[in-house]
Amino acid sequence: MVLDDLGSSLRGTLDRLQGKTRLDEEDVEEVVREIQRSLIQADVEIDLVMELSDEIERRALEEEPPGGTTARDFVLRIVYEEMVDLVGDSTELPLESQTILLAGLQGSGKTTTAAKMAWWFSKKGLRPAIIQTDTFRPGAYDQAEEMASRAEVSFYGDPDNDDPVEIAREGLAATEEADVHIVDTAGRHALEEGLIDEIEAIDATVDPDRRLLVMDAAIGQGAKDQAQRFEEAIGVDGVVITKLDGTAKGGGALTAVNETDSSIAFLGTGETVQDVERFEPNGFISRLLG
Ligand code: GDP
Repeated sequence: MVLDDLGSSLRGTLDRLQGKTRLDEEDVEEVVREIQRSLIQADVEIDLVMELSDEIERRALEEEPPGGTTARDFVLRIVYEEMVDLVGDSTELPLESQTILLAGLQGSGKTTTAAKMAWWFSKKGLRPAIIQTDTFRPGAYDQAEEMASRAEVSFYGDPDNDDPVEIAREGLAATEEADVHIVDTAGRHALEEGLIDEIEAIDATVDPDRRLLVMDAAIGQGAKDQAQRFEEAIGVDGVVITKLDGTAKGGGALTAVNETDSSIAFLGTGETVQDVERFEPNGFISRLLG
């Protein structure tokens, strides 16, 4: 079956359909209720949950199960297809020269993600460089430098310069020998104007090939507003969800992907540079429903 590791409650409901070949309205309602419960618990935005579950319900009632398919497998396939449709495949990342801009709130995990992605690209045989433009958060420069050295990749930052746009420009010139430039930016605690102005200016200077929004898995219902603001400011090509090693399931990423019409690029699963995975829909969807 397409989904493993389903939550016990949804699994129980589905297992009760095991012997059936047809679904009645009550069966479908029960499954849909269970899915809604799981998704809301996973912090998926309510409107999105409703949209998804309406579509699942409609299809489960209207479509004919293909011959030989049990009711359980039929409904599970619909759930999977609808969720994959929403979340999509991982963000395309060609293994070639490129500039990637990371955006997000303070503490979302941008600096850590920059190092993780640099490590990931270096394992693929490319030569990445991290450019640290966060002049706002004390300690950001030291942290980025240390993580870059752990990832064994080039690094540029300038603790004596407080102009992030200038640092970005100089950083690109200083790391010319690299082929993948990952530009880390400053976050703020909230979506202040200063943050948006700054990221727009950096974006205009570095002219990135990809703009990734970094989000903490625990972002919850705040994901929508955040995704909209960054989408308006710079346009979001992909989302990175961090801290998936914690208890949060990262449903906010679904909201962000939906709002920005993008996809998920990477998952962060720990604090070290190796704790990074390319997004893969099956595991993530199972986790949301679990
Ligand atoms: P920034 O302000 O967006 O640059 O965020 P940082 O990269 O400094 O991350 C904030 C905190 O979250 C740091 O303590 C990181 O070690 C931690 N962190 C980042 N990504 C992950 C992750 O995937 N898992 C865990 N457990 N911690 C993470």
